[in-house]
Amino acid sequence: MSWHNKAAALKPDGRAVIDGQRVAAADGETFDKHSPIDGRLLGPVVRGRSADIDAAVKSARAAFEDGRWAGKPPAVRKRLLQRFAEKILAAKDELALLETLDMGKPIQHALAVDVPSAARCIQWYGEAVDKIYGEIAPTGPNALALITREPVGVVGVIVPWNYPMIMASWKLGPALAAGNSVVLKPSEKSPYTALRLAELAVEAGIPPGVFNVVPGYGHEAGEALALHMDVDAIGFTGSTRTGRRMLEYASRSNLKRVFNELGGKSAFVVFPDFNDIPRCAKTLAGSMFFNQGESCNAPSRVLVHEAIADEFVALVAAQAPRYAPGNPLDAATVMGAIVDETQMNTVLGFIEAGRNEGATVVTGGVRARQESGGFYIEPTVFDGVANNMAIAREEIFGPVLSVIRFKTEAEAVQLANASHYGLQASVWSHDINRAHRVARALRAGTVHVNQYDEDDITVPFGGVKQSGNGRDKSLHAFDKYTELKTTWLRIDPAAAE
Ligand code: NAD
Repeated sequence: MSWHNKAAALKPDGRAVIDGQRVAAADGETFDKHSPIDGRLLGPVVRGRSADIDAAVKSARAAFEDGRWAGKPPAVRKRLLQRFAEKILAAKDELALLETLDMGKPIQHALAVDVPSAARCIQWYGEAVDKIYGEIAPTGPNALALITREPVGVVGVIVPWNYPMIMASWKLGPALAAGNSVVLKPSEKSPYTALRLAELAVEAGIPPGVFNVVPGYGHEAGEALALHMDVDAIGFTGSTRTGRRMLEYASRSNLKRVFNELGGKSAFVVFPDFNDIPRCAKTLAGSMFFNQGESCNAPSRVLVHEAIADEFVALVAAQAPRYAPGNPLDAATVMGAIVDETQMNTVLGFIEAGRNEGATVVTGGVRARQESGGFYIEPTVFDGVANNMAIAREEIFGPVLSVIRFKTEAEAVQLANASHYGLQASVWSHDINRAHRVARALRAGTVHVNQYDEDDITVPFGGVKQSGNGRDKSLHAFDKYTELKTTWLRIDPAAAE
């Protein structure tokens, strides 16, 4: 059966998962979820509000307090998380199709990247959890200080729509492995895979109540979760604007810990001594246009030395036809639909602003496939951009690249760092001194040298400045979902015989 036929036969379930059960909203309300591929209605989705969030938090709290999960030996949690990962892989086709229908990414990427990455993440944290030891502090002879990692309790997870399953798994993996209970609110633009993940977790044997999912709007379900007095921490991924709100919610409620993974405007710095400019241009186009440019770490701000700028821009523009938007359900499509009409119009608005501010569209710059009823934009390259233009300052979150020219290394570093974001950056140079010097000087959570696409669950991911705090992935992610606890024991000196 083709993916189109499979999609036509699929009836996604938009009910919440609370305490291991599929449930309607307390007030019965739903919202309609449409596919960005062609605008078709996918179905009604629970419009969660305070009452639903409250029910989910109560379920998570009860699961945490009675020890049905946190109290299990780490080796048992490990086995169950591994089974959860196996269930994800076994449901690969269904999950990939849901992800594609929900947010418009190509089915080939959902199958090759999103599902396996989510499964690997859950499996990796499960695998890690019975290998983490506590500490004994080097105190004096009459006392023993044990330093242990305790789960924080109930973790609220709020995630965006660009990689719905991967973003959820980056929080779920470490939070669940550490013994926490979770209430997850997916984006209203991509609720389906998170809901299915919660069912698969229960099927894998993770006790009901440990992982709940309540869909709904940010200002309703999201706000209720982040303001809840019985939520101990928030793992948030989304825009810097909403990340700011998360800090406000915490300060207005119970000072819950807030970990924000936010936006980016990552600089991609190309020096003329890099000896394979075609490879560099190809990597740039691939990283920029992957996922329709809807990636927090997309290298959307390209700084290129003036000596090679004309050649480089032509090489990047020549890549654009490879990324012509297509129907995401066609197996050959590499660039799919923008998540919805609002986001498409935001991106087109930035393109308009770029033109008005005097930058030049080298390729793209227009809507595509309008007759499909869906939302598509041609891969777009702007040349002649200045760093103070909106298209260089703001995160566009669509397939739009801005090229800025520089004359000296010092100028390149100054321009790269002149951003309130600091998620990722890259430097392209075969001068080893320059590569190290610039990599050190770039203010970003991750710097790539002479490549952009390396990524692994073993390495931390996160940003500096207004790109957020804390790190997803790697063992460092446990820092977010555990508290250090000190236990002092007195050791009496030997009694005199
Ligand atoms: P968003 O901030 O609009 O929404 C993210 C989540 O927050 C959604 O679930 C949404 O419903 C919820 N939300 C929105 N308003 C809320 C409110 N007032 N109160 C509580 N919750 C609220 O972001 P988005 O458009 O879904 O996602 C795109 C953003 O995510 C981009 O800025 C991107 O860079 C960022 N992102 C960052 C990373 C990272 O690891 N740093 C990864 C992926 C995406």
